[in-house]
Amino acid sequence: MAQATEKASDQQILAAARAILGARYAIALTGAGMSVESGIPPFRGPGGLWTKYGEPPMNGYQIFLSDPKKAWEDRIRRQDDELWRPLKIAKPNPGHQALARLEEIGVLRYLITQNVDDLHRQAGHNALAEIHGNWKLIRCIDCNARFRSEEISLDTLPPSCPKCEGVLKSDTVSFGEPIPTDVLNHCMEHAARADLVIVAGTSATVYPAAGFAIEVKQRGGILVEANLYESEITQICDISLRGATGEILPRLTAAVWELRKAKLS
Ligand code: ZN
Repeated sequence: MAQATEKASDQQILAAARAILGARYAIALTGAGMSVESGIPPFRGPGGLWTKYGEPPMNGYQIFLSDPKKAWEDRIRRQDDELWRPLKIAKPNPGHQALARLEEIGVLRYLITQNVDDLHRQAGHNALAEIHGNWKLIRCIDCNARFRSEEISLDTLPPSCPKCEGVLKSDTVSFGEPIPTDVLNHCMEHAARADLVIVAGTSATVYPAAGFAIEVKQRGGILVEANLYESEITQICDISLRGATGEILPRLTAAVWELRKAKLS
């Protein structure tokens, strides 16, 4: 296990804020570290949800496709399981709010998240791609349309798409399920334009998410990480800000705000 090193200094924060303000097209890539700070346990490792409740099947998507009706019945039966409780009660933390603020002031153009917890949206973030889906949404596996759960009647299972009558599934991407093409395309589009990536709460080792950051770096872009621990991604980051994202990102956003104010005045 990597050790936490010294917390980001004000100087490091300032350097990162300067880089972000100097970028033409800054995007962010976020992961489980941000969810953990909102009280959502990680999937794996000590105290992990899957450690406690068992790993979902590696062919979950194939199981769904082979009998969508049964998959929905299982899902409905388990909806009050303790497993879901942390997701139901989680609230966005200051890190989520800081990124939403960066978007609001026009500095952060796009956000790619590996988290399914809906917290970036709840913090007010608009331009984002949820690579692994959103647990509150239901998606049509034929046309990719998404619906809030309350919009869909579960009287007949599996529910069908109001737009194309295709089969509806939880938007959360199952094992064995390809990342929905619309999400993947959005990510590639924005990563291709990006010249800076804020990597927050993730060691960025899981593909395809990791690939977006690496691609920007290979084109000469800048990587700024906000992570509690050193990890694989640290080696290619230009600026590493050590600490909890809920602490680092608000400091970063405040620094960006101050710098910009000084420039404008
Ligand atoms: Zn559809």
